Amino acid sequence: MTTTFDQLGLSQPVLQALDMKGYTKPTPIQQEAIPPVLAGRDLLGIAQTGTGKTAAFMLPSIDNLRKSDNRIPFKSCRMLVLAPTRELAGQIAQSAEDYGALAGLKVHSIVGGTSVNKDRNKLHKGTDILVATPGRLLDLIDQKAFNLAGLEILVLDEADQMLDLGFIHALRKIRDMAPKDRQTLFFSATMPNQIKELVSGYCKDPAQVSVTPESTTAERVDQYLFMVQQDEKQSLLGLILSGRHEVPGKIERVLIFTRTKHGADRVVKKLDQDGIRANAIHGNKSQPQRQRALDEFRSGKTSVLVATDVAARGIDIPGVSHVINYELPNVPEQYVHRIGRTARAGRDGVAIAFCAEDERSYLKDIRKTTDAEFERLPLPENFRAVVEGVGPTKPAPKQQRQRVSPKPRGASAGGGRSQGKPAGQKQRAGGQGGQGGQGRPGGGSRRRRGGGGGQGGGGGGQRGRG
Ligand code: AMP
Repeated sequence: MTTTFDQLGLSQPVLQALDMKGYTKPTPIQQEAIPPVLAGRDLLGIAQTGTGKTAAFMLPSIDNLRKSDNRIPFKSCRMLVLAPTRELAGQIAQSAEDYGALAGLKVHSIVGGTSVNKDRNKLHKGTDILVATPGRLLDLIDQKAFNLAGLEILVLDEADQMLDLGFIHALRKIRDMAPKDRQTLFFSATMPNQIKELVSGYCKDPAQVSVTPESTTAERVDQYLFMVQQDEKQSLLGLILSGRHEVPGKIERVLIFTRTKHGADRVVKKLDQDGIRANAIHGNKSQPQRQRALDEFRSGKTSVLVATDVAARGIDIPGVSHVINYELPNVPEQYVHRIGRTARAGRDGVAIAFCAEDERSYLKDIRKTTDAEFERLPLPENFRAVVEGVGPTKPAPKQQRQRVSPKPRGASAGGGRSQGKPAGQKQRAGGQGGQGGQGRPGGGSRRRRGGGGGQGGGGGGQRGRG
């Protein structure tokens, strides 16, 4: 029997707000988390973005805040949500406003990279809900512009990511300052030892909820692969984005990942030279620049966004039709997070990896860790000549798409050109691919095992910082 939001015990104003959002049915994490949170219990949620976890903590908290009906505390807040990145904080604050639209609660967010004075002013009279990155929150507390005395509910979102970003001391400090009788809702995608230690310091007998969302998301993603030389990637990208080289799926909104900030800027600059408008988001961009890039991408003003892993982590942009891994991540779990940016809210998506010779070991790790199966795509005809600027290109024949078996055999392990078909590759049956509208080719190549979101926390040191 399917549970409805109604049956979970939420109030009318919240139910109406959900109706306005068009949500008809709670997601699994919402079904499991909402009743214990409404009952006032602490919660430990092992979950990633894409599962509906924001609503899972926000909806019952809005009702709890309404029920307790305390006054807004001076220079403090009743509910605090800590988030690792500015983008995620902005997104959570937006959700709080949407879900609480009819509940009459005041919502603010504070993040680094913006004016501290403005934050001081806006928080002077306090707020019901505050969404903050840990660094900025501590700045204000240190300046005596804010305190945690009025706190009723504390949420840590993406705790593992906050640790990766070096917020461990900030999180311990915040824990020690928070009132003891608060309710704590703790979310993390992975559970390395440091997180376990934090949980035991933050939570009292938490109800535990675990979902493995990225795997289900990733199962709806068809995964493709180009074996391409490093110096050819930019040309290939330009040909794909300009529609001169067909790839599966209708290109609508494309999120491109690079490993480094510098790499992201370089891609944007080169696309610009090709007449393709794109923006980049990464840690060197100011907050207004990042926000503008996201807004333009969301509104469709630009259809290409280039991002580093940390900058893109957790951001929810509906309608990403393609994720292009321009550079493969050196941490395999990151691959799963990346491709999870497409196939949101039940839609299908396409992920395309560009793998150069020196990235083969990353590809191997991705396959091993995530069980991803890639379908190999041919490079454009006369591609080398195009790269060297001496030849035109024609769209690749649709029937040439080939599947790479998980263990490359013989010549197929080479970075072969499409014209010389590597041995061991199967011709696609049916091969209806191409860009003809929504039609996804055949079954595509989906990630099959749900283990990829596993213990990624230990590799934090290697992760590319946004
Ligand atoms: P989150 O995991 O919180 O980032 O949510 C992922 C996406 O799912 C967001 O775009 C939400 O607006 C959307 N969402 C959350 N809950 C539901 C629901 N019950 N029905 C439909 N969409 C939802």
